[in-house]
Amino acid sequence: MSVATLKVRETAWVATVRRRRRRERAQREATMELQRRFHAGAGVTHEQVDAAKAELVQVRASLKEAEAALAKVRQQIAALSAPKIITSEQLGLKFQDLFGGKGAVVRGAGHYTAGRRVPNAKELAAEMRSDHSFHMGKGWGGLAYEAMIADDGTIGLGNPMSRKSAAVDSTNTGMVSICCPGTTGDRMTDAQRRSVRWLLDNWHTAKVPRPHRLPKKARGFGWLGHHEYPSQSTACPGVMLKDYRELWK
Ligand SMILES: [Zn+2]
Repeated sequence: MSVATLKVRETAWVATVRRRRRRERAQREATMELQRRFHAGAGVTHEQVDAAKAELVQVRASLKEAEAALAKVRQQIAALSAPKIITSEQLGLKFQDLFGGKGAVVRGAGHYTAGRRVPNAKELAAEMRSDHSFHMGKGWGGLAYEAMIADDGTIGLGNPMSRKSAAVDSTNTGMVSICCPGTTGDRMTDAQRRSVRWLLDNWHTAKVPRPHRLPKKARGFGWLGHHEYPSQSTACPGVMLKDYRELWK
C-alpha cells in the first residue's frame, strides 16, 4: 500500500477517533446523570442505569478499536516513509583527512556514545557537533561515525564515506559505523530500529546524499558490535547490541 493511500486512511481514522471520543464523553455524562437521578430517587430504574453502563462499555471498546487502527496506520506510514536526514555538510562540520581513504567497505560496527540519549533532529545536530569536536580533540580528524540516529529516528550522516575514520581502534580500513546515542542499559526506540533498518536497506541508493552513500549494499558485509572487534577495550554498544543484531539479520 502506498503512503498516499495510508494518509487517506489516517485522515479518516482521525475523524472517527474524534467522533467516538465525543460519543464516549456524552455517554459517560449521560450515565453519570442517570446514576445521580437514580440515587436521588428521581424516577430512574436500576435497569436504566445498567443499560447506560453497558452502552458506555461498548462505546469505549469502539473508541479503543479506532485508536488502535489509527496507531497502526501511523506505524505503517512511518515504516514506509524515508526518515528525516541531516548531514555533516548542513551542520558545517569540516573533516581532516588524517588516515587516508576508507578503502573498499568490508565491515560495519554498531555503537552507542556512552552518553546521553538524543531525542530529535535538533538535539542530534548538537550531539554531532559536540562529538565532532570531541573526536577532533582526540586527533581523529572529526566525527568518527558515518551515521548517528536519534530516538525519533532522525538520521545524522556524519563522516563522509570516502574518509577512513577512527571509530574502532586499528580496524578502520573499510569500516562504516552506526551510532545510536545512549549508554549502558539503553535500548533502541522503535523509531531508531526503523531508521537503522531503513539505512541498511537504502544506504547504497540515491535516497542517501552522494558523499554519504555506501558503495554497496549494507547487508552484503559483516556487522559487529564495537567491542566484538579484536582487542577493543570498550563495552560499546552495551545491550543495544541485541537491537543491532536483530536488524543485521
Ligand atoms: Zn563504539
